[in-house]
Amino acid sequence: MLEVKNVTKKYGKLKANDNVSLSVESGETAILIGPNGAGKSTLIKSIVGLLRFEGEISIGGESNKSLSSKALLGYIPEMPAVYDMLTVGEHIEFILRAYRKEDDGYGDELLELFELKDKKDKLGKELSKGMQQKLSICCALVHRPKVIVFDEPMVGLDPLAIKNLKDIFIRLKNEGAAVLISTHMLDSVENYWDTAYIMVNGQLKEKVLNNREDSSLSEVFFAVTKGEEK
Ligand code: ATP
Repeated sequence: MLEVKNVTKKYGKLKANDNVSLSVESGETAILIGPNGAGKSTLIKSIVGLLRFEGEISIGGESNKSLSSKALLGYIPEMPAVYDMLTVGEHIEFILRAYRKEDDGYGDELLELFELKDKKDKLGKELSKGMQQKLSICCALVHRPKVIVFDEPMVGLDPLAIKNLKDIFIRLKNEGAAVLISTHMLDSVENYWDTAYIMVNGQLKEKVLNNREDSSLSEVFFAVTKGEEK
């Protein structure tokens, strides 16, 4: 569903991503982990079409630059992106219209789940940071994307919202979505991932499958990243 092939991204002389390849299939939850500055957000921004890069990225078999691939994609950025002058309800309406989707009640379901339904008339700028993050998640999911990319989604969320988000991860997986989550919170994703990609200094150093009984993800993470950082 999501395929990244030999992607390199340079900022001047710095190779933030160095020949990175990975894939996430339908029904698979992959996590992208690595120390600060490893290049995770850079890769995610390339996947969602915010950066130019060398290499190939496809979504649903089409280049990530195509309109059809963008229609399949949901993106939750690191910093919540909401419109100051749209209300919570208008955000959902706007996204549905942009994707030419009917309102089938899923937007309300998401707002309810993230305790935003009673705030439907509040403006984006009137929301707290955590509320903005929740709205950003609702907006990224309401058009029922098939490939969803989360960049540090738990930051700023309260415990109930984190629990609800974990339920969403499970639901998306059961519905056959391909999910990629960049996170530092290894404990909070321990039970939800199928594949972990460990990135260090712009390179993918290890692909780990979640069938290990001998060691936890954090143990593998520290073993792989030890001595590899600049
Ligand atoms: P973190 O876990 O701290 O969020 P990250 O793994 O997401 O880090 P990136 O934000 O992708 O890392 O950064 C990778 C490298 O690219 C870092 O060395 C960073 O300083 C550099 N970098 C990121 N954005 C830019 C930019 N716009 N211009 C120049 N260098 C950048």
